[in-house]
Amino acid sequence: MVAATLHRLDDARVWRVLAEVCDPELPFLSVVDLGIVREVSLTGGVVRITPTYSGCPAAEVIGLAIANKLAEAGMNLRVETQLSPAWTTDWITEKGRETLLAHGIAPPPAASTDKHTLFADPPAVACPCCGSMDTERVSAFGATACKAMHRCLSCSEPFEAFKCL
Ligand SMILES: [Zn+2]
Repeated sequence: MVAATLHRLDDARVWRVLAEVCDPELPFLSVVDLGIVREVSLTGGVVRITPTYSGCPAAEVIGLAIANKLAEAGMNLRVETQLSPAWTTDWITEKGRETLLAHGIAPPPAASTDKHTLFADPPAVACPCCGSMDTERVSAFGATACKAMHRCLSCSEPFEAFKCL
């Protein structure tokens, strides 16, 4: 029943499909939880996204993954990339932050925390294993450009932290 399907194409359904698209570098995190999806406009037939870190090669893959998923679901929507305002870690949802932590990746500091520049000392990051704030940054780059390697001085566990932007 194509007609019925079209009739039921509402924002909520589109968001549900989008929630099934995962970030290529963080496969347990959906593009919705990451805050990449900025707008779903059914009247305009468009889904507007702002990719994460523009330096990430994965950013280009995401738009394609979203477009494929929508096509698979039979949703005829265009995916438009919007680069301004730039994506910020503040857009990661509460669920997204919890998911990061559950996977042993320290989420970025909450929105209320002061932003730092890439050249300044990074803010203290809580160890995802034991919660200690006694951690140090080992390397500015982890397995991907989006994450930095940290080490916990309390439990000596190395861990990755999402970089704050
Ligand atoms: Zn620890």
